[in-house]
Amino acid sequence: MAENVQATTTMEKIVSLAKRRGFVFPSSDIYGGLNSCWDYGPLGVELKNNVKRAWWRSIVQFRDDMVGLDSSILMHPKVWEASGHVSGFTDPLVDCKQCRQRFRADHLEGDKCPECGGELTEARQFNLMFKTFLGPVEESAAVVYLRPETAQGIFVNFLNVLNSTRMKVPFGIAQIGKSFRNEITPGNFTFRTREFEQMEIEYFVRPGTDEEIYEQWIKDRYQWYIELGMNPERLRIRPHESDELAHYARACSDVEYYFPMGWSELEGIANRTDFDLRQHSEFSGNKLEYFDPSTNEHFVPYVIEPSAGADRATLAFLLDAYHEEPDKDEVRVVLRFHPALAPYKVAVLPLSKKEPLLGKAHEIWKSLRRHWLVDFDESKSIGRRYRRQDEIGTPYCVTVDFQSLEDNQVTIRDRDTMEQERISIDELEVYLREKLGF
Ligand code: ATP
Repeated sequence: MAENVQATTTMEKIVSLAKRRGFVFPSSDIYGGLNSCWDYGPLGVELKNNVKRAWWRSIVQFRDDMVGLDSSILMHPKVWEASGHVSGFTDPLVDCKQCRQRFRADHLEGDKCPECGGELTEARQFNLMFKTFLGPVEESAAVVYLRPETAQGIFVNFLNVLNSTRMKVPFGIAQIGKSFRNEITPGNFTFRTREFEQMEIEYFVRPGTDEEIYEQWIKDRYQWYIELGMNPERLRIRPHESDELAHYARACSDVEYYFPMGWSELEGIANRTDFDLRQHSEFSGNKLEYFDPSTNEHFVPYVIEPSAGADRATLAFLLDAYHEEPDKDEVRVVLRFHPALAPYKVAVLPLSKKEPLLGKAHEIWKSLRRHWLVDFDESKSIGRRYRRQDEIGTPYCVTVDFQSLEDNQVTIRDRDTMEQERISIDELEVYLREKLGF
């Protein structure tokens, strides 16, 4: 990997493009926003859904050893005692005595306030779980937590999945869903927020096979980002040092992306041993074991956990797709998304707003929309419309012009090469399917 790796752009540019084009808006914008909360706009929701869909396809659809799950956000409070979150899911918090700002002590260099140089308090442990109450009475017996990870929903369903499917170890359960952490210092746009979505896998294996399977998952997960077009120069694997490991974890590696603020975690892959299943067995009184009929053995599987963030992955794909290119006297901004991730796959652009040309363009739009999300844009000059589609990452533009009325052909423009090709409308669907790859 090159040492002089560079980010594609600054976070400011991406935040601005995201708002201008409808990828991401500040939450509750008309009220001045809410710290670290973001809303995905019309294009953002497509991009993020495409990221989640690509993950689900590769993890659940394409593998015969995985099944999916969608567990509830609110869970029995004992779950979080068993998992260790009630006692240990904390970050060290310090306050500045002068400007009153709060920081994560383990993110600070030196012992002074990074904002004003003031003196800091002693660090105290702050639990990151959001508390709320189940039912109408606000009493301690009714306290529940918004889940800080989706993983525990998988562990507590281990027996349900085993009993309702024909899965045999090694096998895994995958889940995508919201998680909540009352982070002390959220920031860097959607990189660290208090409400976010995770894409998690718990993969159950026979003890003794765990190390090899752990290594394989690291390779598979790294490859997933590459196959979706991420630049390998900005992607790396970082094994954790032994002093970074949770006490139950045998090994952990992060897939890191080179964000504008430097190398940061996209996903963690951990060998969690049998810690979680044993804890839940003890706290629930249910034996979370696997019976292997071929050897007549009962055992508690080890768990390999690849845990990714849907928002972080979406942000990384957005950043990585960003390109600025000189174009005559101007700059062409283009999002070179992989076609599977691009919000719109195609845009239909009529050269005139008049009939019968408009009607013909609408017809083409209608027929393509049965297969893909297709934009339709009839405003402004064709050059401006191409620029707009480049800036939102649409791989192909289909231009309908006066000639089309006579020869039943359209012009297809490729986002990346800007090359144009004339093809028959009857061949359009097959042509696009081949180009897009689906
Ligand atoms: P970090 O060290 O960045 O706080 P973590 O190691 O605590 O992350 P995990 O508990 O391993 O994170 O969570 C798995 C994944 O969930 C992370 O790799 C990340 O993609 C995502 N994630 C975790 N916390 C947040 C957050 N506050 N905002 C957005 N995504 C998050």
